Amino acid sequence: MRRRLVWTLFPTHLGLALVSLLAFGVFAGLAFRAAHLEQLRDDLEARAGMLAHRLAEGPAMPDSAAIQRLCQGLGEPAGVRLTVVLPSGRVAGDSMDEPEAMELHGERPEIRAALAGETGSAVRLSATLGQRMLYVAAPVRHDGAVAGAVRAAVPLAWIEAHLAAHWRRLLTGSLAAAGMAALLALAVARHVAAPVRRLDRFADRFARGELEARIDPEGPEEIARLGGALNRMAQELEARMSAVVAQRNETEAVLASMGEGVLVVGEDERIRDCNRAAGVLLALDPATARGRPIGEAVRNSALQALVARTLEEARPGECDLVFRTPQERFIQARGMPLKNADGRVAGTVVVLNDVTRLKRLESLRRDFVGNVSHELKTPITSLRAASETLLDEAPPDPADARRFLDIIHRHALRLEAIVEDLLQLSRIEHDTERSGVPMERVPLRRPLEAVVAACRTRAERRRVQIDLRIDGEPEGTVNEALIEQAVTNLVDNAIKFSPPGRAVRITASREATALRIAVEDEGPGIAPEHHARIFERFYCVDPGRSRRQGGTGLGLAIVKHIALAHGGSIRVESEPGRGSRFVLEIPSGEPAEE
Ligand code: ADP
Repeated sequence: MRRRLVWTLFPTHLGLALVSLLAFGVFAGLAFRAAHLEQLRDDLEARAGMLAHRLAEGPAMPDSAAIQRLCQGLGEPAGVRLTVVLPSGRVAGDSMDEPEAMELHGERPEIRAALAGETGSAVRLSATLGQRMLYVAAPVRHDGAVAGAVRAAVPLAWIEAHLAAHWRRLLTGSLAAAGMAALLALAVARHVAAPVRRLDRFADRFARGELEARIDPEGPEEIARLGGALNRMAQELEARMSAVVAQRNETEAVLASMGEGVLVVGEDERIRDCNRAAGVLLALDPATARGRPIGEAVRNSALQALVARTLEEARPGECDLVFRTPQERFIQARGMPLKNADGRVAGTVVVLNDVTRLKRLESLRRDFVGNVSHELKTPITSLRAASETLLDEAPPDPADARRFLDIIHRHALRLEAIVEDLLQLSRIEHDTERSGVPMERVPLRRPLEAVVAACRTRAERRRVQIDLRIDGEPEGTVNEALIEQAVTNLVDNAIKFSPPGRAVRITASREATALRIAVEDEGPGIAPEHHARIFERFYCVDPGRSRRQGGTGLGLAIVKHIALAHGGSIRVESEPGRGSRFVLEIPSGEPAEE
């Protein structure tokens, strides 16, 4: 683990302080010792001078016994060894020894200097006392000539003992100073490291994403500048992050609201993203699809091949996907390579379009054109055949002519009926798509009674009775003419399929928010397999019978479109042999009755 800044700075500071302290201590100790020695030397010189002065008082040097006394009298109380040496080198007196027993001292350097008239000093091991001594010697003058030398000496051990107390005080002082230096060094290290730690804490918060945090620009200039730079960096990052987030939200909103399915697949062929529409189209849960391999999440080899091809060839591709379960669905898929910053393919975006409705419409259109042509072909063939026969037979037999003209008339009527129905269908569709059919508030009784009146003759001809029963006086916002048309088509069919002597019942009532009109007959009924299809254009349960009865196969399709134009519905309830009931429901256009 790395050391903290404070523990890097502290030993350096402490070391510096200790080295300075040590240098100062040694220097101070040595200086003190030198000063002390100097002072001692002065003291010894003064003592030696004093004795020399006494010895020089008389006209000549006193005798040996007097010198010895003087030495002892002055030296012993002061603890100083005093020695008097004659110019011959002989010792004349010594405060600590017998002069007679002592060797010649003339060659001692301090004595030699004193005998030469100077003050001499030396530090040396004393041969007499066996310890290191400090010697200072001064000349004794008689009549201007050197008559001897006086030497004062103290053992150095004495000085050292004297100095030891000073050394101890110095050491104690130094230790205390070292302790204080350590505390000071720690405080300084902390003080220097504190702003760096503060920056470090903020950098940490930035790294955790707290980009709104700001550093106070305090502390030394470099730290304040670094703090400012970090603040600017955080601000810049924050701005970019919010731009990125806004962009991501925008993209997510676009993807979520898109009708097309969008699938983002990585270069490892795993799903990276998938919008709601893609989830619906591919039966995938967008929340759990992320990270799954595309081949495993969607079992469709064409899609897999498209992804693989787009990734490999790095260019857009297209294919059609067919899903057969739960119902047949056709999906058009377009793959686009997704490139990263250095232009390498990093994945692919697949856009999915549900074209099932388009395909169905396409097939409906084809069927419709086929059906219309087929329906028109029969009357046209008949018209042509009848007219050609008439033209060939010249002059025609009046009875034949009548018969053929009759055929021509009938088929012309049929053609007219088909074209009329087709036009009507297309008009309703057109109106519904454009602005909606015009509607107004009308009592339902009005169009229903009109239907009964219009169908009465036909019904009577087939000996069918029409019953109209209206619950209350329901009103609706409807297109009256279209409602009349729809109910007429239903009643027309009911009359056509009713055996003679039976009744056709029309009932109308107001339900919660809808108007319900039902047309019921006691005819042959319709098998369930036809229920869903009889509302398609040209669909006939029994084409031969329908045509014989003048049906175009468009009546119920028109009813269905009228219901749709009103935002309503039509359904059939029927069983073979039990009659049929057609129920038309349209919104009443007003809130539910209490
Ligand atoms: P068409 O003009 O040929 O009657 P429609 O669209 O009105 O055509 O009806 C479609 C088919 O529905 C008809 O061929 C007929 O077989 C059947 N159908 C309609 N109404 C009835 C009914 N009331 N009873 C039995 N079958 C019916």
